[in-house]
Amino acid sequence: PLLEKDCDATYKVLILGDASVGKTALLRCLTGKEFHDRLLPTIATDFVKKTFEVDGAIIELQIWDTAGQERFHSMNRWQYRGVKGVVMVYDVTDQSTFNHLFYWLKSVNEEMEQTHNKYDPVPIVLLGNKSDLESGRKVKLKDGQQLADKELAFEFLETSAKTGKNVYDAFRKLAFHVTEIC
Ligand code: GDP
Ligand code: MG
Repeated sequence: PLLEKDCDATYKVLILGDASVGKTALLRCLTGKEFHDRLLPTIATDFVKKTFEVDGAIIELQIWDTAGQERFHSMNRWQYRGVKGVVMVYDVTDQSTFNHLFYWLKSVNEEMEQTHNKYDPVPIVLLGNKSDLESGRKVKLKDGQQLADKELAFEFLETSAKTGKNVYDAFRKLAFHVTEIC
């Protein structure tokens, strides 16, 4: 087959979570852009591309950043179409962003039931971001781990878009799970 790009397959994934948890900062970090302490809110839906090598194949994640709809808790249904994986983010210094994960997980499950085969679970990687802000921590590492276990998230990591901790690893793990299932 003729490949548009220099990779074996492209997969659409979404990054979800409350406003200000660091979704855009994580994608900037992943794609080698510098960190800004005052990042402007995302104003348009946008995506970044990142390639990974999984079992000898080059695969590309097309990662869709959400553009402020999180404020209104109303993701548009079309954004879930064709989605093969989800990165779900909370802020370890903001308990409410962790509490809202119940909403995010519910909405993902509902949408996926509409558009996906129920026997193919969509891999979810759960991230507790801003882990560099240890003094402001409100959500314990074990709380994130417990939620991930309970909700069958495929992976859980604490990340920092500021220091880069675990950022590449998190998306690498998602790429692995996505290709396992597809
Ligand atoms: P989004 O609304 O989820 O896309 O959040 P942003 O990426 O716009 O980040 C919101 C704010 O948090 C920005 O001022 C970022 O600089 C800051 N931020 C994001 N990630 C981190 C992180 O890992 N550590 C620290 N200290 N600040 C972060
Ligand atoms: Mg953003």
